[in-house]
Amino acid sequence: MDHVIIVRYGEISLKGRNRGFFEDKLVDNLKLRLQEYPNLTYYKKDSRIYIELNGTPAEPVLTKAAVVFGVVSVSPATRCSTQFDEIAAAAVAETENAMKRGKIKTFKAQAKRGDKKYPLDSQEIGREIGACILRRFDGQLTVDVHNPDLTVYVEVRDYAYVYSQKVPGYGGLPYGTSGKGLLLLSGGIDSPVAGWMMAKRGLILEAIHFHSYPFTSERAKEKVEELARILSLYCRRIKLYHINLLEIQTAIREKCPEELFTILSRRFMMFIAARVAAHNHCEALITGENISQVASQTLQSLHVTNAAVDIPVFRPLIAMDKMDIINMAEKIGTYETSILPYEDCCTVFLPKNPATKPRLEKVLQHEAALDKEALIKSALDGLECKIITP
Ligand code: ATP
Ligand code: MG
Repeated sequence: MDHVIIVRYGEISLKGRNRGFFEDKLVDNLKLRLQEYPNLTYYKKDSRIYIELNGTPAEPVLTKAAVVFGVVSVSPATRCSTQFDEIAAAAVAETENAMKRGKIKTFKAQAKRGDKKYPLDSQEIGREIGACILRRFDGQLTVDVHNPDLTVYVEVRDYAYVYSQKVPGYGGLPYGTSGKGLLLLSGGIDSPVAGWMMAKRGLILEAIHFHSYPFTSERAKEKVEELARILSLYCRRIKLYHINLLEIQTAIREKCPEELFTILSRRFMMFIAARVAAHNHCEALITGENISQVASQTLQSLHVTNAAVDIPVFRPLIAMDKMDIINMAEKIGTYETSILPYEDCCTVFLPKNPATKPRLEKVLQHEAALDKEALIKSALDGLECKIITP
């Protein structure tokens, strides 16, 4: 008898010929995430990944494995031979441990026979194991098949696996299986969530932040670095670019109508992000934009922003409600940092009445008053890059 973690991965099993690639990547990512536990060993079987603990405590391995993208759920399990007596002993031990963890009065045993040659079918295994548990805890437990306090799962394959806990993961695809994207990371609530969602779909993240130092503070920059650090818990490391937008903002303020200030700033962010992306082999931009949330995110404004670049722009939050975005930010751990009250580069010169329905031709006309290439070049010359790790 020994102890393993069962790692289930759902969607990857739908991948046809590429399945092996996704599975191997997931194993690699699990190994990286769990590299502080040198005794773990891994194998793929039964459309899952098994992690043999070899004496490592299950709890920290379980919590860390659960947050690796691609993982649908994890279970700490006892692995034993398929001999009925051994399975029964493991099931009784599993029940006993569960009773130590919390108050349990009712249970059921649920079995799955992966090996069709096994002499008992799934129903019979469940019934027999249930009977063994009942005999052992006579007077303490009763069976409830509909709403039990505890379900003891038994899977009979080439080994038997016995477990009672399933810790949900985030699902998605293994990090690094979908190419690389550049996240426009502000200090707000939305953009970290947008980046997290794309990383969950397998995209490697790099991030770019625009500040208006000295009008925005060093603290505001540190806040963004902290957000990147939280994201790096899911992504291992994040390359973060800082760009000073102040010269561009000053030029816009001098030469363009006030109501277009935000939308023009946004277009310059896109121009610069697209160049940084191209230079660093990022194949998409990612923003936290959300339809009609603010003046710069109406359909017309998004069109004007979008027209600044050719590269695909992903906006995973586009149709989400703010409350749902906040819930997600809390779940992934970025919310508390996002609400720290440091100024953002866009709020520094916020127009009183920003255009809510800008027309592209008109915006382009006004933009022509600026020396676009020189401004972009000057901003890029000041680019600062940091590698952010957990
Ligand atoms: P967030 O919570 O992400 O700041 P928001 O509601 O404040 O979003 P805006 O300020 O209009 O929205 O920004 C929309 C998107 O533009 C952000 O989600 C982000 O992707 C990008 N963005 C805005 N400001 C910056 C910045 N200073 N640096 C990098 N990207 C930015
Ligand atoms: Mg913002």
